[in-house]
Amino acid sequence: MQTVIVTGGAGFIGSALIRHLIAHDTCRIVNVDCLTYAGHTATLKDIDQNPRYCLEQVDIRDRSALDRVFSTWQPDVVVHLAAESHVDRSIDGPAIFIDTNIVGVFNLLEAARCWYASLEGEPRERFRFHHVSTDEVFGDLAADAEPFSETTPYAPSSPYAASKASADHLVRAWQRTYGLPTLITNCSNNYGPWHFPEKLIPLVILNALQGRDIPVYGEGHQIRDWLYVDDHARALHLVMTQGKIGTSYNIGGHEERRNIDVITTICDVLERLEIPHPAGVNRFHDLITHVPDRPGHDRRYAIDASHIGRELGWRPQESFESGIEKTVRWFVEHGDWCQGVEEEETRQRQGLGVTA
Ligand code: NAD
Repeated sequence: MQTVIVTGGAGFIGSALIRHLIAHDTCRIVNVDCLTYAGHTATLKDIDQNPRYCLEQVDIRDRSALDRVFSTWQPDVVVHLAAESHVDRSIDGPAIFIDTNIVGVFNLLEAARCWYASLEGEPRERFRFHHVSTDEVFGDLAADAEPFSETTPYAPSSPYAASKASADHLVRAWQRTYGLPTLITNCSNNYGPWHFPEKLIPLVILNALQGRDIPVYGEGHQIRDWLYVDDHARALHLVMTQGKIGTSYNIGGHEERRNIDVITTICDVLERLEIPHPAGVNRFHDLITHVPDRPGHDRRYAIDASHIGRELGWRPQESFESGIEKTVRWFVEHGDWCQGVEEEETRQRQGLGVTA
C-alpha cells in the first residue's frame, strides 16, 4: 500500500482530496495539518475512523517535526496544500503568509530532499512531491488577453499571490538543482462544500441566509474562473499518479464569471429553492451592498487547462450552474458546521491575538 502525505488536509481542498483518495485509491493517507483557523477535524468526520487515514497535527514551519513525520510514515508521495490562503488576510497581515507559504514550503522541500536521498530502488523511483498552487501567481489578465498557460510569466499582485509564486519557484529550484521529483499545479478559484465561510461564495450564501449585507468589492466586475472542488480533487489525483515529473499543469473550470454575476446567481438559486427570507428581507438580492474595492485587486484571471486535458485526459465534470446549486443546498443544510468553524475562528483570534 502506498503512503501519501497530504498537507493541509483539514482545509477546504485538502479535505476534498482526502475524501477522493479514500474513495478512488487504495493508499494510506497521512494528513499533516496544524489546524489553523481554516483547518477543522469536523471537516473530515466522515472518514476520520477509516484505518487508511490518520492526522499528524504538525506545523510545516517546524522542520524537526516534519523529519519525524517522514521517517515515521515513509511516504511515497507528498501532496502539499497547507497554506495561508485568504487574500484579504494577506493584505492585513502578510507576515504569516511569508512564514507558512514560503518558509514552510522550504522546510517541507528540505525534509523531502533528505527523505528522497535516503531512498533506493523502487521506492526512490516512486517518490514524488506535488505542490498545489494558484492561478493568482500570473497576476492581472487584460479583458481581451488569452487565458494563462503554463508558460505565462509570473506577475503576482497580492502578498498571498507573491508568497505562492515564491513557493512555486522554490519547488522548481529543488527539482532542477537537487533532482527532487516535483510536480506543480496552478488552479483557478474553487468552490463547493466545506469551504471556509470567509471566502466569497460561502460568505454570500451565509450572509444571505442570515439577512446580513452581501458585500461586493467595487462594481463587482472582477472576473474569476470557477472550478467545483471535487473536479480539482480528481485533477490532483491524476497529476500525483500520472503527471510527468518536472511539469506544471494549469487546472481550471472554463467558467469565467464576474463577481457580481456569481452573487446574483447565488441569490437567484436561493429564491428558486424557496429558502425562507430572513425577517425584513423581501428578496435576497436586496442585501447586495457595494463596498470600496480591495487594494491591488486583479481584474481578471482565466486558465487555459488544455495541457492537462491533452496529457492526462482531465476535464471538469460539474458546470457552474449545477455546482453552485449543490453548494447552496450544502450550506443551507450544514449550518452547524458553519457555526462551529466560525466560533473556533473567533476563539483562536481572541486567544492568539490574530487580526482578521
Ligand atoms: P484552506 O485555507 O481552506 O486550508 C489550508 C489548510 O492548511 C488548513 O487546514 C490549515 O490548518 C492548514 N495550514 C495552514 N498553515 C499551516 C501550517 N503552518 N502547517 C500545517 N498546516 C497548515 O485552503 P484551501 O482553499 O483548501 O487551499 C489549499 C491549497 O490550494 C493552498 O495551497 C492554496 O494556495 C491552493 N489553492 C486554493 C484555491 C482556492 O480557490 N481555494 C485555488 C487554487 C489553489
